[in-house]
Amino acid sequence: MYRDIGDTMVGITSYGAYVPLHRLGPETKGWGFPSKAVGYYDEDSLTMAVAAALDCIGGSDRSAIEGMYFASTTAPYKEKLTAATAAIFRLYAGKCKVCGTIQYPPQRICTRCRAKDSSEPVRLSDRRAKIFTYTLDNLAQIPAFDLPMVDSIIDFEGGGRGCFQMTDRDPREVKVGMNVEMTFRKLHTAGEMNNYFWKCTPVRDAGPAKESK
Ligand SMILES: [Zn+2]
Repeated sequence: MYRDIGDTMVGITSYGAYVPLHRLGPETKGWGFPSKAVGYYDEDSLTMAVAAALDCIGGSDRSAIEGMYFASTTAPYKEKLTAATAAIFRLYAGKCKVCGTIQYPPQRICTRCRAKDSSEPVRLSDRRAKIFTYTLDNLAQIPAFDLPMVDSIIDFEGGGRGCFQMTDRDPREVKVGMNVEMTFRKLHTAGEMNNYFWKCTPVRDAGPAKESK
């Protein structure tokens, strides 16, 4: 991340990191560690770079950021830049300027007050949410080891409701009212093209680092 302040050269103003939730344990021979973090099947260098970039931005004033270079080693499509992919799939809802109702996806007509073309964009990707309801799909087209797929309808803090697939979860622990947050993931791959979108995941609060000895 950089800030353009004229001819003055500046150093690093912020940095971010991301470590996947999943671990390979001692059954993995030859690595010399008790466990090692590995990306899940719906993660790649693009999704992890998005997570690290969002961590880098953190609570910064986004209007003060002149630009951000984004690159990863994963090519989502043969002729498409990773930056373009990340920019396209913004998670924004529409907030009605008349009655304040937040709708996702954004609509021209407010579902509450029927005002037309009255909404303004509201970012949801950094808001936490609670599960309103969910279903477990045993026939979903996802890797068998991740079945059942958890499809959830979630209510965002401050308003807005949406339907999202849940990842990095134990289906036995999913319940109504559970706190979740948003994460940018790979949905599926068709041919040589990866398709990405936002999923929800149980809230990961930072814990003490575990060092291997
Ligand atoms: Zn309205």
